[in-house]
Amino acid sequence: MKRADRRAIQRIVAERIEKLFQMAEANAEEHPDRARRYVELARKLSMKNKVPIPRKWKRRFCKKCGAFWIPGRNLVVRVKPRPQPHVEYICLECGARYRFPYLREKLKAREEGK
Ligand SMILES: [Zn+2]
Repeated sequence: MKRADRRAIQRIVAERIEKLFQMAEANAEEHPDRARRYVELARKLSMKNKVPIPRKWKRRFCKKCGAFWIPGRNLVVRVKPRPQPHVEYICLECGARYRFPYLREKLKAREEGK
């Protein structure tokens, strides 16, 4: 396959992934199973075509069970200062825990905002 062709495909796939996540978000509240299916499809497309999942969606679903997260409903977000400042995500669908390093700038902004 020509490189230009692959690029064209990847662009279309990226659009499709974006659409699927938008649909997942729209359905997450009322039809969580449907949302999960969209997440699954988007992830499959991403892997098959080597198209990365957009950053804005990366932390919106559980990598373990595929649930689309709605903070406060099926996701708990906690900020933990120790041992290293990090944010803890707990998926309430399957109990998986994720840790993300907490950006220093954000922490600083919060302290200054007090
Ligand atoms: Zn989960």
